[in-house]
Amino acid sequence: MLKFMRNKIVGIERIAPDEVLVHGILDDDIYSLEIDLRVRLSDLRIVSIDGRWKRWTTPECPLAVGKLKEAVGMCINEEGIYEKIRREIGKKSCRHFANLLIECCDSVKLAKEVIKEKEEVKEKKKVDIRKEFPKCVKNSGTLIDLHIHTYPASPCASSSIDDQIEEAKRIGLDAICITDHDYIWDKEKIEELCKKHNFLVLRGAEITTDQGDILVFGLEKLPQKKGLISIRELRKEVEKSNGFMIAAHPFRGFLISDIESLGLTPEKEAEREVFKFVDAIEVLNGRVNANENVFTKKVAEICDLPKTGGSDAHETKEVGIYATYFEDEIRNERDLIDALRSRRYSACILKGV
Ligand SMILES: [Zn+2]
Ligand SMILES: [Zn+2]
Repeated sequence: MLKFMRNKIVGIERIAPDEVLVHGILDDDIYSLEIDLRVRLSDLRIVSIDGRWKRWTTPECPLAVGKLKEAVGMCINEEGIYEKIRREIGKKSCRHFANLLIECCDSVKLAKEVIKEKEEVKEKKKVDIRKEFPKCVKNSGTLIDLHIHTYPASPCASSSIDDQIEEAKRIGLDAICITDHDYIWDKEKIEELCKKHNFLVLRGAEITTDQGDILVFGLEKLPQKKGLISIRELRKEVEKSNGFMIAAHPFRGFLISDIESLGLTPEKEAEREVFKFVDAIEVLNGRVNANENVFTKKVAEICDLPKTGGSDAHETKEVGIYATYFEDEIRNERDLIDALRSRRYSACILKGV
């Protein structure tokens, strides 16, 4: 029995918002060839094309590669395009290249449909952070950005504590909490800064635990522990000092792709160990995307834990993106902890993102 095998494979990659790179291979018992073309998605025009022969039969075959350029500028969506490709490319270049190019064009049209559908779904899923959280309106209470880093105490930050304080003052915050990574500022140094800037600066720390980052308030020194501290141990230390613990950005990076595809639900995530050990949850974090912040808010509601907001500013322009509005007046660190316990506060958008 006569046997003949032909394989055509097309791969498509979106290399820019409006452009795809198409790689096509045609391989049969006689010929083997490849093409690469770029197609603009908005008008489906061929932007560039290149070809390669891997196996051919006549000395003329390789000449066909140069003639492929005739396809540049063609709109693959126009009527009669496949006849045109057969006529122009098939005759001037080679019918095998024409055959493969038609397969590629067909695939691009399908890919465009898929991309469109995906974008529509994504658009529908995009949450509007402004509908979920209030814009901050200052009344008699105290507006505080509870999560701020400074350089060099946090090596990953780029702004000095003086710059962060000045920015906080400029944008109308009443106070900030310095929460450097695994670092607690000296009390005297902070008092000096308060006087120097005539502004309330409070101390906290962001401590890395086996259950993620935790914002801690009320500790005078870091727990003495070699290696990663467990949340249980940290809880003990904080209780000894009558302090307060907030789970910082507990879902950062969780919802970069589709929520459903990861099977995450707020109900399931609310059962995480970490939420049994903290007093509140940071539901607005400036370095977390809108979907993740809204997801965290739902989790906090299920856990019945109070919700805080903070910028997680590592540089000056980020200070005050989000904040926490306390209904009470806060004048010092003890007031802050009492206020945090009172639950009379809400996470709010200040500068926004
Ligand atoms: Zn963190
Ligand atoms: Zn942080």
